[in-house]
Amino acid sequence: MADLLETDTVVVGLGAMGAQTLWRLARQGVDAIGIERFSPGHDRGSSHGESRIIRTAYLEGEEYVPFVRAAWRAWAELEEASGEELVRRTGALMLGAPDSAAVTGSLAAAERHGLAVEHLTTADLAARFPQHAVRPGEEGVFEQEGGAVLPEAAILAAVRLARAAGARVLTDTAVTRIEPDADRPRVHLGDTVVRARRVVVTVGSWLPTLLPSLAGLGGGIRVERRVLGWFRLTEDAPPHARGPVFARDEPDGTLWYGFPSLDGRTVKIGVHAEAPGAPRRPGAQWGEPVDPDAGPRAPDEADARRLGELAAGLRGVEPLPERMAACMYTMTSDEHFVIGHHRDLPGLVVAGGFSGHGYKFASAVGSALADLARNGSTDLPVTMFDPHRWDRRVPGRP
Ligand SMILES: Cc1cc2nc3c(=O)[nH]c(=O)nc-3n(C[C@H](O)[C@H](O)[C@H](O)COP(=O)(O)OP(=O)(O)OC[C@H]3O[C@@H](n4cnc5c(N)ncnc54)[C@H](O)[C@@H]3O)c2cc1C
Repeated sequence: MADLLETDTVVVGLGAMGAQTLWRLARQGVDAIGIERFSPGHDRGSSHGESRIIRTAYLEGEEYVPFVRAAWRAWAELEEASGEELVRRTGALMLGAPDSAAVTGSLAAAERHGLAVEHLTTADLAARFPQHAVRPGEEGVFEQEGGAVLPEAAILAAVRLARAAGARVLTDTAVTRIEPDADRPRVHLGDTVVRARRVVVTVGSWLPTLLPSLAGLGGGIRVERRVLGWFRLTEDAPPHARGPVFARDEPDGTLWYGFPSLDGRTVKIGVHAEAPGAPRRPGAQWGEPVDPDAGPRAPDEADARRLGELAAGLRGVEPLPERMAACMYTMTSDEHFVIGHHRDLPGLVVAGGFSGHGYKFASAVGSALADLARNGSTDLPVTMFDPHRWDRRVPGRP
């Protein structure tokens, strides 16, 4: 007979979103169990590689700005509770042609929400940010309210605080099946069953596997490979250590990004999106599917060369990365998140499909999921991430 555990809320998956949810529940006195198939802070999901960009003038859509602001407040609470610096406030610089999404999207978000940004010319960029080899006509949008979140450190801090506040944490334990039930959903872990009032599912790239009924959401959730590369600074490098985090929209539509040197030796870069419709080139990462159980293919020479091509837009770095890491993006069809109750999965609260831009929000996602599990609703602005939004859409309209 299976062992039976009882609790108020189970959080399945203690990565970026689950760790913060467990901490928020535990500090509110909720009896909660967190379950993680590996060890928190591991490098087999979507939350490793030492840094993630946080920025406020959100080029993916001005409607995200209130949520980023909630995330900044929630990051400050986690930093205060843990006594750790988990966000490096470097500022953020978006670069591209005047009509690029990086420039126009950031300016639109700033204008709509009255954010303080500076719109920089090519000459301004050359003078203030000499680490970027800018093209004639390229512009920049700089905002002070940007920086780098430290992903592994934040997960470990949230899990430690959750434990200290009374949460039970099961590591190296995979949930094999969840039986939805409005009354007391059941979570199966091998021979053990946990019954809870609510189950929060934050399993990142494993969402389509663990809850196959969600795999087709909005036309399908896809898991894709991405590679990060750390480039060593040269001896005559401009001041990379003090620079802002950045994203750069290339003329062909490639969007890549990077961080100032957090370790004093290297600069890290990655590709967010390859040029739409471009022929597949060696090292291109856009669209390469991944089975999360097998993990993404290890970085290879083609990845190194592709990252090196982009790093040529930076002054003072070696031409090829000294190390690389592969990671998974979990993409929705509209590249917006999925957060909320699902009408076909009673008792479950689900968050996933963070489409390569979710980490910065993890602090606020944790608060929202804790509210949804506890009260059934939240004041945080997550209705735009409703899992049922696709059902309401008129064909041919966004
Ligand atoms: C290379 C890269 C760069 C990125 N850059 C940025 C950035 O600059 N800014 C930004 O905001 N976002 C960025 N992102 C996106 C961001 O990191 C992700 O959106 C975020 O980490 C997703 O968090 P998650 O909690 O959904 O997934 P994860 O952090 O992967 O957590 C899921 C957890 O669930 C566990 N799990 C899975 N299945 C089970 C199971 N059956 N039982 C128990 N546990 C299970 C996994 O082991 C894992 O720990 C980037 C992502 C990548 C890959």
